Amino acid sequence: MNDVHDEQDDGTLEAPLTDRLLENPDTGRTSWRPARMSRLPPHGNAESDTVAALRTQLAHWRDKAIELDTAVFEMRALLQSGKGFSEILAVESLLHAFMAVCRERYGATCSAVLLLDDLDPDDVFYRVRAYHGLEDFVERDGGREETLMFKIPRDQGLLWQLIHQGHVFSVRDMQRLPRFKTAFRRWSLAALRSDVWVPLVRGNDVLGLLTLGECEDGTQIPESEYAFLQEIAAVAATNIDSTVKYEKNARILANLRTLYDVNQQLANVNDFKALTKETLTSAVQALRAQKANLMLYNPETQTLEIKVVWGNIPKATLEAINDGRLATKAFALGEGVAGRAAKLKRPVRINDRARIEQVGRNVVYCILAAPLLHGGEVMGVMTITNKVKDVDGKVELDPLGRFGEDDEQLLLSLADQAAVNLNKARLYTASITDRLTGLYNARHFESTLETEIDHARQSGAPLALAVIDIDHFKRFNDTYGHKAGDAVLARVGKLFGEAARVGTADSAFRYGGEELCMILPNTDAATAAVEVDAFRARIAASTVDYEGQALSVTVSIGLAAFPAHADARKALFEAADRALYASKSGGRNRLTVAATPG
Ligand code: GH3
Ligand code: MG
Ligand code: MG
Repeated sequence: MNDVHDEQDDGTLEAPLTDRLLENPDTGRTSWRPARMSRLPPHGNAESDTVAALRTQLAHWRDKAIELDTAVFEMRALLQSGKGFSEILAVESLLHAFMAVCRERYGATCSAVLLLDDLDPDDVFYRVRAYHGLEDFVERDGGREETLMFKIPRDQGLLWQLIHQGHVFSVRDMQRLPRFKTAFRRWSLAALRSDVWVPLVRGNDVLGLLTLGECEDGTQIPESEYAFLQEIAAVAATNIDSTVKYEKNARILANLRTLYDVNQQLANVNDFKALTKETLTSAVQALRAQKANLMLYNPETQTLEIKVVWGNIPKATLEAINDGRLATKAFALGEGVAGRAAKLKRPVRINDRARIEQVGRNVVYCILAAPLLHGGEVMGVMTITNKVKDVDGKVELDPLGRFGEDDEQLLLSLADQAAVNLNKARLYTASITDRLTGLYNARHFESTLETEIDHARQSGAPLALAVIDIDHFKRFNDTYGHKAGDAVLARVGKLFGEAARVGTADSAFRYGGEELCMILPNTDAATAAVEVDAFRARIAASTVDYEGQALSVTVSIGLAAFPAHADARKALFEAADRALYASKSGGRNRLTVAATPG
């Protein structure tokens, strides 16, 4: 029954099937070509029976050839129509077309196609990539891992030997019991509810398998049909092979494009949050992932803390985490997939749901984490979870999707880029930050005030500037020592930073020794006065514990607004400084708003 296939040296089907069949007569050695028919023995008494028998056989095989040709034609048409789908779905739709042809021909109740995958570099995998009639089983609890991730051991076992030979074979005996009991038990193969397995062979490679269930009338596909199945599988294998390769190339190209785009986008971004959001957005899109997050390593706590999340997550949760309002679980080095990637300093990819710790209600089918390394040190980890697919224009979770080798390479590249950018952002932040107080420094003040006044001028919104100076600080230093002075200054700076309103563009600076200032965009003098005076009162009421002493200082404040008190940067600063002087001469520990000119 398998002779037709065995005579093929590479298992492919180049010439139209009918031609090939004519040139490769079956074991009966009957030729179907009309020209050869004339070479049959002439009519005669002794030979007439033989001739009649041959003619019957010939008619049978001709019908068979026509039938086969029609089926292959249908198959090709279906395969062609499958190409119309988007790139992402091409392999899947191809497999569905292939399954449909085989299934409908025999009225098979169910079918599945398993394809070779590169999910685990250490293991040869064949996993379910498309199925039909198995929904109740596969989609229950999101699918059973052992079925979706079926592994065929490439061993000396009979099952693998049969698959490798490319023969169609039945996996259940007459009593409906599995012929390969051990393998069926070990890999839960009963779940596929299959009678017949059709290997998809190309050259020496087994690309995958088609499994077919029993016919609707309860019978098995007859053995006489195996040759046809084998031929159609050869056509399918050629198509599947090229489509898989095409998809892979398309993915690699898309990945390169993503990397290029991310690089372009991020070249001039200095803000860490904006940076990581862009990187994560790109990762989620390019990897067709459901979610992504970025954790940063905190050397003080020696844990990884989630800083930015992205993707298919409830909006309120996403915003709360990204704004820093919601702290999530921190991971120790070695803990969880992210912790392991950080500890090992290499990507960790898990595609087996059973091996992933399931936290919360949402199932994690697959997870991929890549460390952010700089100079060999771990700065953080990028993690992506689950694959999505397009269903009628909508993005949905893909329970069969897993992360492959090229996904890992892309995430690693994105993580490398994120590490470089993060480091750049950190250097930039350090260059504009005052070490003692944690506030922005004088250099940054000059450029920020310039920018903000330009904005205010364009938008017509007001802008307030407050200038603060600690009272009698020289005397304080003289009394308690310079170190105590530093401690107080650090504390005042911290409270001043907290005085900047959350969700606004308020920014606080240390622009001189014990002189601080705040730019309050979109704020008039009266509103700013209320805000900043609250800070003054807080300082006056608080003490700093220094070597057992409760120390306290007061501050004086001058405030001016654009355009009410001045219409340029220098004039605005001078107006605020004059108001500060008025606070000092008026008795200190107070706030003065600049006088309206004219
Ligand atoms: P007032 O402002 O109330 O008029 O009196 P003052 O004594 O604070 O006078 P002024 O602002 O002119 O003096 C600034 C003093 O602040 C000088 C210096 O001793 C102290 N100072 C400036 N920078 C630092 C610093 O970084 N650490 C400490 N400990 N002291 C500083
Ligand atoms: Mg001063
Ligand atoms: Mg002072």
